[in-house]
Amino acid sequence: MTFAFDPLSLRLPAGHFIDGAHVADTPRAELRAPSTGQVIGQVPVADAAMVDRAVTGARRALAASGWAELPPRHRLVALHRWAELIEAEAGTLARLEAVCSSRPVAQAATGDVPVTAEQIRFFAEFADKECGALAPTGAGSLGFVAAEPYGVVGAIAPWNFPISMAGWKLAPALAAGNAVVLKPSEMTPFSALCLAELAVRAGIPAGLVNVVQGDGPLTGAALVGHPGIDKVSFTGSTRAGAAIMENIARSGIKPMTLELGGKSPMLVFDDADPDLTADCLERGILPNAGQFCVAGSRIIVQRGIADALAERLAARFARPRPAPTWAESPGFSPIISEPQLRRIDGIVQAARAQGGEILCGGARFDCEGSFYRPTLIGGVSADNPAVTEEIFGPVATFQTFDTEDEGMALARHPNYGLCAGLFTRDLSRALRLTRRLEAGTVWVNRYGRSRDHILPTGGWKASGLGKDLGREAFAANRRTKSVLIDI
Ligand code: NAD
Repeated sequence: MTFAFDPLSLRLPAGHFIDGAHVADTPRAELRAPSTGQVIGQVPVADAAMVDRAVTGARRALAASGWAELPPRHRLVALHRWAELIEAEAGTLARLEAVCSSRPVAQAATGDVPVTAEQIRFFAEFADKECGALAPTGAGSLGFVAAEPYGVVGAIAPWNFPISMAGWKLAPALAAGNAVVLKPSEMTPFSALCLAELAVRAGIPAGLVNVVQGDGPLTGAALVGHPGIDKVSFTGSTRAGAAIMENIARSGIKPMTLELGGKSPMLVFDDADPDLTADCLERGILPNAGQFCVAGSRIIVQRGIADALAERLAARFARPRPAPTWAESPGFSPIISEPQLRRIDGIVQAARAQGGEILCGGARFDCEGSFYRPTLIGGVSADNPAVTEEIFGPVATFQTFDTEDEGMALARHPNYGLCAGLFTRDLSRALRLTRRLEAGTVWVNRYGRSRDHILPTGGWKASGLGKDLGREAFAANRRTKSVLIDI
């Protein structure tokens, strides 16, 4: 397969996708490719009336199609067909993804798209296998716990892995018998439209997968607050998650899943393998230019291995070369937008002003597009902004410690608790500290998700509520009903 393409000659889908069809709307915002800064398209911003049209359409389609009432195998078969079509259209989806995001087209085509198809199959299998429970009541009655879909799920996704994030929201919701209205990020609107089109082609009834384009304050807020939305599933920043909680509290209580930000520690002990650890530290911050929620952005190293790791990291951080996301071979990813690049640089410069030492990087690349150099900052105190704030860029801090307790104190973030990396060959220490680390996921002597989709992902503390992936994500798309019958 050839991956390279010309971004200006790509046919971009327009408008929203409602009731199984594209719906035109006035383009309101210009979309720029972060790889070059050139304008590549326009996006509409759905107002409350357009959101209402999508939500009422979804409710109607859910009732008319019998999606939740037919034998669950229907859902399983349709979702498997959808996964096949997604794989068959990997090239198209990857180009729509790469044109405006930070995802290199080759990685999207060979990674993001097939993994999304795999995750759809994973959730499809729950449709006809996950059972309720029989309750241990007295012989005079029969008690059971049944699980039912919510109805219409309002899903909101970020820009950093648009196809994967859409899949995480859509697949468990549909498998559980819900309809979905999805709002992708205003910066990466296109691939979700293609996913929705393929859903209809796969036999998922029209109106069950809807996509509304727009920003957070207008479209996102209208979706969350719509009375026809039964459950909210959100992935994005902690700030937007808090705004959504507030909106839900004001507009009527409904369940929500929030996958939010992180500032994950990479805790390295003297006995760790230096080469394997350096590979993991690199993998924890450089892919997608550090724009992933589980980025291991706080490197915390025991003094005896610090020099060996600093030297290895400096070499690895000097290697990446930027390339447009539509190049044949993946290069270092751009930062999603100029404002975001300026924000990253602002934190780096503030970190330097507060005593941080820039060990490498610390500036943008000297080329067109929004590319920022891999940056390592040493000499930082616990209250340095580079240590406290989620930067969402290729920037890591480097701190050292002597004792296990000192290392654990540095690893603990006052607000975030998404993930943690732990590097040691001492099994007892690994097990002891795995229990003490305040994070929804701990990776030991590795870093990053595997393809074991059964492992749920989600944060502690301000990193989120509830889980994506795993059995938990399927369960989060159903509500239980306790039934007691006297015999
Ligand atoms: P963001 O919060 O700015 O936007 C995310 C989505 O929310 C977008 O679609 C946006 O339009 C919408 N939105 C913003 N404000 C809203 C509001 N008030 N009401 C409703 N919708 C609103 O985040 P981003 O910049 O797109 O993504 C980066 C963030 O996402 C980072 O903080 C990252 O850690 C987080 N993230 C978390 C996970 C996870 O699994 N925990 C995964 C990916 C990204």
